[in-house]
Amino acid sequence: MSKTVALHTLGCKLNFSETSSMARLLEQEGFVKKDFDEVADVYVINTCSVTDNADKECRYLVRSIQRKAPEAMVVITGCYAQLKPQEIAAIPGVDLVLGAAEKFNITQHLKDIAKTGEAKICSCDIEDVNTFTASYSKNDRTRTFLKVQDGCDYNCSFCTIPMARGKSRSDTIANVVDNVKNLAATGVKEIVLTGVNLGDFGKGNFGGKKTEETFFELLQELDTVDGIERYRISSIEPNLLSNDIIELVCNSKKVMPHFHIPLQSGSNKTLGMMRRRYKREMYEEKVGLIKTMMPHCCIGVDVIVGFPGETDEDFKETFDFLHRLDISYLHVFTYSERDNTHALTIKPVVPVSVRNERNKQLRNLSYQKLQYFTQQHVGQTRKVLFEKQEKGNLMEGYTDNYIKITAPYTATWANNIVPWTI
Ligand code: SF4
Repeated sequence: MSKTVALHTLGCKLNFSETSSMARLLEQEGFVKKDFDEVADVYVINTCSVTDNADKECRYLVRSIQRKAPEAMVVITGCYAQLKPQEIAAIPGVDLVLGAAEKFNITQHLKDIAKTGEAKICSCDIEDVNTFTASYSKNDRTRTFLKVQDGCDYNCSFCTIPMARGKSRSDTIANVVDNVKNLAATGVKEIVLTGVNLGDFGKGNFGGKKTEETFFELLQELDTVDGIERYRISSIEPNLLSNDIIELVCNSKKVMPHFHIPLQSGSNKTLGMMRRRYKREMYEEKVGLIKTMMPHCCIGVDVIVGFPGETDEDFKETFDFLHRLDISYLHVFTYSERDNTHALTIKPVVPVSVRNERNKQLRNLSYQKLQYFTQQHVGQTRKVLFEKQEKGNLMEGYTDNYIKITAPYTATWANNIVPWTI
């Protein structure tokens, strides 16, 4: 009888695409996929280092597995498994911990392991991780997340991602185009290009060879592939968002008018302490250029509140900066301490209650920004890609510029692009 496997993702779109790829590898070996709340022979949890309480979440999930399937094999992988393998291995019920270089060898590792009550750790130093494995999500959602880049060469003082994922490395343009053609042949309409630091696409090695390709060139090539109707850029650092890329998006019918650009702080003093590679003036210039060329463009912003040393005045600077900036929504993160980061040495620490209050203020601002952005488009007809899932008698979709639409469920609209008057 076939073995069964259930997988669970914590964290970002990159992890989501990697979990999908691990699932495909396991299915190719004969495993049958189950939902995570069902009984299975093997459970895989793909962890995140950015999520608060990654260890608590992991413990909670492992306990829930032990209750429903005490004999099942439990595998933990992902960023947290790379950063804290011993800690993960000590969780009762964990059988196998796979580091960054080993997650795509999961089928081999499962052949070599038996349930002994002791967790086996398969991990190496992150400096030795230099391979790139393309991943994409499929059949899980209407949009497909395609990983084209991994790792990061920056050293932002709050961030553990370079320690969990290693140096920047990418796929080649030729491989990405092949993957995109294959996805198009299976009916995929929209691809979200995903990476840790997408703007650095092409930097670093691929298969031991140095590539000289750029993210701009990748977009140029993808624009010409038949079959795929939409691309989105998941996120791009402001200093790597070149005017050429903005112009390409403006002239492209396929790359959607939607940018997600991490700002993190609107205070130059805080940006310096965060070791970010730009000043707020550059950010403002990029937003200004985008909105001049594409007034309908959606712009999302990541921002962190309560970074050490952030005074009330610094926060007010961030708030006022975002208030006047022509952006569409915010993703607000409350700063939390991470082991082995430079930010731990910066004083004074902001009390948690103040961090939470600042978060609340920016979430309110985000709500107002999104209302305003949506209001500007009322009466316009825009193209909506409707998702497959039926929710009650309703369905959801997104316009080209990422306005969420809810409509009565119509089967023929699922995974199709429909003109819609907002
Ligand atoms: S750019 Fe900074 S925040 Fe983003 S992954 Fe790299 S180090 Fe982390």
